[in-house]
Amino acid sequence: MKLIFLGQPGAGKGTIAEMVVEKYGVAHISTGDILREAIKNETEMGQKAKDFMDKGELVPDEVVIGIVEDRLKEPDCEKGFLFDGFPRTIPQAEALDKITEISKVIELTCSEETVLDRLATRWTCKECSAIFNVKTKPPKEEGKCDSCGGVLYQREDQKPETVKERLVEYKNKTAPLTDYYDQKGLLSRVGTESTPQEIFSEVVSILDA
Ligand code: ADP
Ligand code: ZN
Repeated sequence: MKLIFLGQPGAGKGTIAEMVVEKYGVAHISTGDILREAIKNETEMGQKAKDFMDKGELVPDEVVIGIVEDRLKEPDCEKGFLFDGFPRTIPQAEALDKITEISKVIELTCSEETVLDRLATRWTCKECSAIFNVKTKPPKEEGKCDSCGGVLYQREDQKPETVKERLVEYKNKTAPLTDYYDQKGLLSRVGTESTPQEIFSEVVSILDA
């Protein structure tokens, strides 16, 4: 199973991706998580990426494509994988087509209002990147990750101006990917205004079909 999750920031990709990865045992590849890890470790790649990310802009294609090429060589990808946040541009999708063959693409969709609301109330685990939401998916203990006990924080790029820039980038550069994959007959759409359980079971029925 080689999957791609498309969707605006805040559409629910990360949350549903975690559930899919657990059920099917595939590798979860989040380019955003890999980039944040590189920044934390102060690698050369992290330094290149930081300015773009802080502004809400996309990181240059060649940086991200390099990350993905390396990541796919790791042994856990043999059972399959789920891309969360990649590809985000047509050149990234074309590069991916040269590396591997994707089995399904799921676009998670929701209104702009929901997206803004979700991003403002989102908390992320510093250790394992698990996502919580103070309104809809609160952690059992305040400020603490349910899965690993790590500290929860609000990401830098969650500021309203930065969020706006991320949504503009999505519209201009990432939204065209839905047509790209639709033309290949790979695309399914799932609305994400309902509960994570309901969204998940819809995704499962698409993956098992
Ligand atoms: P979200 O889905 O909430 O926008 P991500 O964690 O996927 O967050 O991405 C955060 C940031 O990392 C993006 O705004 C962008 O700067 C950078 N990034 C992640 N993946 C890519 C990618 N495939 N191409 C370019 N930039 C990326
Ligand atoms: Zn955690």
